[in-house]
Amino acid sequence: MTTMPATEAGPLGLLGGTFDPIHLGHLRLAEEAREALGLARVRLIPAGRPPHRDAPSSSGADRLAMVRLAAAGNPALEVDDGEIRATSRSYTVLTLERLRAEVGAQRPLVLILGADAFQGLPSWHRWQELFSLAHLAVANRPGYAPHGRRWPGVLSPELDQACVGRLSNDPTQIATAPAGRVVPFDMTPLGISASLVRDLLASGHSARYLLPDSVLDYIARHRLYRPH
Ligand code: ATP
Repeated sequence: MTTMPATEAGPLGLLGGTFDPIHLGHLRLAEEAREALGLARVRLIPAGRPPHRDAPSSSGADRLAMVRLAAAGNPALEVDDGEIRATSRSYTVLTLERLRAEVGAQRPLVLILGADAFQGLPSWHRWQELFSLAHLAVANRPGYAPHGRRWPGVLSPELDQACVGRLSNDPTQIATAPAGRVVPFDMTPLGISASLVRDLLASGHSARYLLPDSVLDYIARHRLYRPH
């Protein structure tokens, strides 16, 4: 019998997003989640056709290419093009079902969310099923109510209810089960958003140091997010 290297068998982090474009808020979220929660790796999953928002400004191919550039050189990051390649709408629950089938029943999966995404969870397709497919790790995000200790009163009653018995401030809990915990964690607060990057570029300003230079070069070469 061959033993899987620890890095392959450990908890796998999943960070989905529109990534329109990917920025340092996303990358620090992945990096700090990996460290805080003991994740073996983090898989970045750009959404194809996100159900919750207007169509992204950039094509799926461009957003995927930018995510690949941002992840290059970091062996702890993987890129998953499943949602971009799919013709149907992107639903996290379907992606988690696919990944659960891929990694097997036992490997812990950890869905990483910023506080804004977590608070919006009850509007997601089949959201209650997410808890049986993965753990949820929730990071603070400037401009949004903080996670964790101050959740009551912040979350909708149904989400608050869904968290009962799942909340844990102990990250080691993640390795002990394949799914089911909700784990808040602190990351360096970064007031960066893709909308901010798009707005800066569209108004002719610099977005340098908010996203990787390689991504900024790609944006310039492909004339994305240009002033109107
Ligand atoms: P937009 O401004 O276009 O809405 P965004 O910057 O929020 O985009 P998304 O791709 O929608 O980026 O976000 C993907 C995930 O990353 C979400 O869970 C979101 O909460 C999280 N995230 C994005 N930026 C940050 C940040 N600065 N701090 C913490 N979490 C973040």
